[in-house]
Order: sequence, then C-alpha cells, then structure tokens
Amino acid sequence: MVGNHIEKGVNMAKEGIHPNYVECKVTCNCGNEFTTRSTKPQIHVEICSKCHPFYTGQQKSVAARGRIDKFNKKFGIKGE
Ligand SMILES: [Zn+2]
Repeated sequence: MVGNHIEKGVNMAKEGIHPNYVECKVTCNCGNEFTTRSTKPQIHVEICSKCHPFYTGQQKSVAARGRIDKFNKKFGIKGE
C-alpha cells in the first residue's frame, strides 16, 4: 500500500527530463564554428574555446604575473 504510493511519486518526477536536444551549430564572433547538442539548432556566441582567454595562453601570462607579484613582495619591491 505505502510502497505503491512512493513508486508513483518517482514516476512523476521522471516526467519532463526529456528536453528536445538537437544538433546545434555554434558560430562565434571570432569565426570559429562547431557543433554541439542544444535545444536550439543554431547559437551565436561572442566567445568560444578558441578565443577565450582561458584557452588562448593568456592564462599563462596571468600566472606569470602572479609569480612576479609574489617575487616583488618577497623582496619588498613595489610594482608600478
Ligand atoms: Zn571564438
């Protein structure tokens, strides 16, 4: 009796977990195009993995700057 009631609730929770995913063509401002899965067939983005600073190596220079800051602090050198 009680178990039956719980099972019904679980089944109801499963409803609606079926978004309509389609093959999606993503076009970036930098000209890069790639496909992914989305609810929309086409997406235009301003930044992608090709031009995002995180992926372009700018990340390295930020890390390097952090090291320099630590170095300057350690030796009492004030930046700028
Ligand atoms: Zn891009």
